[in-house]
Parts: sequence; structure tokens; C-alpha cells
Amino acid sequence: MLSYEEIIEKYEPALGLEVHVELGTKTKMFCGCPTEFGAEPNTQVCPVCLGMPGALPFVNERAIESTILIGLALNCSIAPWSRFARKNYFYPDMPKNFQISQYDEPICTDGYLDVEYETPEGMKTFRIEIERVHMEEDTGKSLHVGGATGRIHGAEYSLLDYNRAGIPLVEIVTKTVLGTESYAPQIAKAYVKELRDILRALGVSDVKMEQGSLRCDANISLSPRGSGKLGTRSETKNVNSLRSVERAITSEMHRHAQRLEAGERVVQETRHFQEDSGTTRSGRSKEQAEDYRYFPEPDLLPVAPSAEWIEQLRAQLPERPSAHRARLQQLWQVPDKEMAAMINAGVVGVVEETVAEGADPTKARTWWLGEISRVANEREVEVVEMPITPKDVAEIIALVAAGDLTDKLARQVVEGVIAGEGNPAEVIAARGIKVVSDEGELVAAIERAIAAQPDTAQKVRDGNIPAAGALIGAVMKDTKGQADAARVRELLLGLLGQS
Ligand code: ZN
Ligand code: MN
Repeated sequence: MLSYEEIIEKYEPALGLEVHVELGTKTKMFCGCPTEFGAEPNTQVCPVCLGMPGALPFVNERAIESTILIGLALNCSIAPWSRFARKNYFYPDMPKNFQISQYDEPICTDGYLDVEYETPEGMKTFRIEIERVHMEEDTGKSLHVGGATGRIHGAEYSLLDYNRAGIPLVEIVTKTVLGTESYAPQIAKAYVKELRDILRALGVSDVKMEQGSLRCDANISLSPRGSGKLGTRSETKNVNSLRSVERAITSEMHRHAQRLEAGERVVQETRHFQEDSGTTRSGRSKEQAEDYRYFPEPDLLPVAPSAEWIEQLRAQLPERPSAHRARLQQLWQVPDKEMAAMINAGVVGVVEETVAEGADPTKARTWWLGEISRVANEREVEVVEMPITPKDVAEIIALVAAGDLTDKLARQVVEGVIAGEGNPAEVIAARGIKVVSDEGELVAAIERAIAAQPDTAQKVRDGNIPAAGALIGAVMKDTKGQADAARVRELLLGLLGQS
């Protein structure tokens, strides 16, 4: 079996990413039903989204506006005229037997998104070209009951919930991405992350991958170097976390390489990512576009946004996340390398929020990049998913600044908050954490240290200040790290005639 390095030496990876994002509109794409997540099954439905005979759809204006905003943010051209199309297929979660989508006349085309990624050779920008951004509607959800896996296979019966049927979806499709080389899995993840940040900044979606409001289909193929043509791709569907995007692509690269090395063909098919094993399993063989018998949707008017409206929306675009980060870097005076580390760790946003809560930027960065990132890595979750908030971190930083916590105690508080013991105040109370600031207690501990190490004490009296370190260490140990080291040093040097 080839190692990852050997795979890259022999084969060139080509990526293709399709992201579906549920818009945060109050009502559905083609009817007035509400869209809130988590409602009782089949309570947010009407004749239109249930596909009853005679029911006619009408377009949600806010959804079109959101889609144009997305297109503009991704540097796309906005079509002055575009149309909806019917994508015909049967699936029980789709009551009309067709999905209203856009086919050969999408609303946004030919854009790009620049993704920054820190490689061992320094920060690099990868331009991901966007082929199209189009509007469609989501399907309902099937729930398979009675089987061991929750999948249809082995289930006794299935339930259908049409609340999600007709929720506005925007599909963002890249062109084939070449040139990411060994970074293909990381660039794919960085792209989805950057896209998520942009969508969040636009306010068009809550972009919660775990709730499915942002889902990624990851296409990958390998072609022998120098062959001059693309390999056969596989498409891993509905990957629902950033980490899984990276893992799914890595796993597929290994699987493709293994088949190609064995002289076997890669089958063009959809696959499903399995969180537990980190691998994919076969879904269905991939349909061709012709199979869907697309035709223009006869029940809806074409979408023809005026140039004026488009320019109005362009003027509303928020600061681009990359520009926003550059501004923060300048404001916080962060060196390039540190900034890159923050971007890769996904902590820029939380650091910004911690600073907004009054914390010093350097301290905020140290906590998020250090202790909190370390535990997030151990738990294999994103830093932002850690159960500690920017407000908690800012509070802890303030307590250290006020001398109420030492750095060491602050780490214990962070640890407690992450362990789910409550907010910083609750952790401090529950664990009985407090700085020994009682001077009498400190002096007694210092006197004990001097008595235990008379030779060292004499050295300090004779002017060898660095020798005080051993005594300070002994005091810190004596007080179980709960003393303020700077104050101990001050008192100790005073007692030994060196202040
Ligand atoms: Zn409806
Ligand atoms: Mn789609």
C-alpha cells in the first residue's frame, strides 16, 4: 500500500466541492410555511410543499436576495435572467416527485473564493473557482425505525417528516480544483470554513453543519501524473463537519490509490462518510444529469433582478472575512506566523469576541491557541465547539490581571469550565481555588523555605539574586501554586535584605 507521500508523488488529486446551504428565511422557498428547526414532525406543511394537486408555488423574494448576496460575495456574475427547472426523480421524502432547482440557467456563475492556508513553506493563497450558485428547495426527511444503524437496510418501517421539504437551499459548486497537491484535504476544509464565515457574515444562514444547514458533497479523483486527463471521481455526500471534510477526502485518496495500484477501476458513485471509522461506504452509482429529465419549471416566472437591485445589494456586502482578519492582525499587532496559526486553528472569531469582552488580545490569543486548542485537539472537535465561551475566557484573564488568580490557577479554572463544572465563578467556588494573598501565611511559608535551605538563603543575602529562584519554587510548592509568585519574590528579597 502506498503511503500518502507516495500517492502524491504518483498521482495528482483533483477536488470538486458542492455545498448546500439552508437559507435562514422565515418562510419556505415556494410557500408561506415557517422554517424553524426542531418543530413537531409535519406541522410546518401546506398543500404547496406537500405537492397536492392544483397547488401552485410562488418565489420567496428574500431567498433570491440572499442568493444574489452570496453570488456577489463569491465574485460571481449575476444573471439578468434565470429560470427554475424541474429535476425529476422519485424519493419518498419528496412529495412532488420532482425538486424545483435551477439547471442550465442558474442565477450566479463564474466566481471565485481565495482560501489562505499556512503550509510549511509559508502562507499560501489558493484560488477556488466557483462554477455556479443556484437556488433550489430542500427535501423532507426519512426516519428509518427498527434497524440497528438508523439506515433503511434492516429497518422495520420508515417515518416521513415534510417540515424540511421546501426550505430554501442554495447550492454552491466549484469548478474542478487542481494544484492543491498534498494539501487537497486541508484546502477543502479551509474552503468550507471560509465559505461558512462568509455566509455567516452575510447573515443569510445559521450555517450549523451539525444541524445540516450547511452540508458538503466532496468530490475527489486521482490521475496519474503526466496523463493529462482527470481520473474518475467519487462523491462523498452530506459531510457534516469541517473535520469530516478533511478526513473523507484523505480516506478517499487512499482508497482510490489502492484501487488504481491494483489495476482496478474507480467507480463513479456517491459514497457516505462514516464518522466512527473515518472511511466511506458505497452509496449508489452516480446518475447522469440526463437521467433527471430536467425541464423549465412551468409554474414559476423567470427570475430577472434589475441591475439597480443588484447594485443595491452589492453596496450592502459586509467586510470580506479575509480583509476583516487583516484588519484585526494590524490592530492586535500579531506576527504573520501567529496569525496563520490562529486562522488554521479557527480561533480568530473567538479571540475577537474575547477581546470585545474586554480582554487583552495577546492573552486572549494565548488561551485559545494554547490550553483550549490542545484539549479540542484531544477531543477531536473544533475549538469553537468547546464548552467554554469568550466571556468565560475574558473573565479568567481579568481575574489574573487583578491578582485574584495565578496563571497556574487560571489553567485549573479553564480546565474546570471545559470539564463542564460551570462558569469560572462556579468552578472557583466549587474547587476552592484562591490565591494565597494572606501576607502572614506567605511570610510563614517563606520562613519555612529559608530554614530548609540556609545555604541558598545565604547566597541571596550575599547578592546572588538568581539563587532566590530555588526558594521561590519551594514557597510555590508549599502553597500548592496558590501564591502570587511575584509577591513571594518581593517578600523573600525583602526578608533577605535585598530589596
Ligand atoms: Zn408549505
Ligand atoms: Mn442540489
